[in-house]
Amino acid sequence: MTARLQRDDEVMVIAGRDKGKRGKIQRMLPDSGKALVEGVNVVKRHLRAGAEGARQAGIIEKEMPIHAAKLMPVCPACAKPTRIAIKALEDGRKSRMCKKCEGMFS
Ligand SMILES: [Zn+2]
Repeated sequence: MTARLQRDDEVMVIAGRDKGKRGKIQRMLPDSGKALVEGVNVVKRHLRAGAEGARQAGIIEKEMPIHAAKLMPVCPACAKPTRIAIKALEDGRKSRMCKKCEGMFS
């Protein structure tokens, strides 16, 4: 199954509070249709020592998952946020193709 977004993709946020930010997908959460993106949707959490495995009290910053529909993959070839096409390769595998420059995603 070739997903529109995959782990380690660079993506741009196209809606919401972090619109315009770019980051790398750290984890996909297929059940909720969300993705965890480095530096995107960061919330501050105030923790006491011992709470939620915290080693010491303080404020930590943590990324929260963002809905995949708010993310646009950034093409590795032309470096623009783009829509993608799923293209079948000759050997039967599928690959993602940039609709702007027709470059292949890795
Ligand atoms: Zn491209």
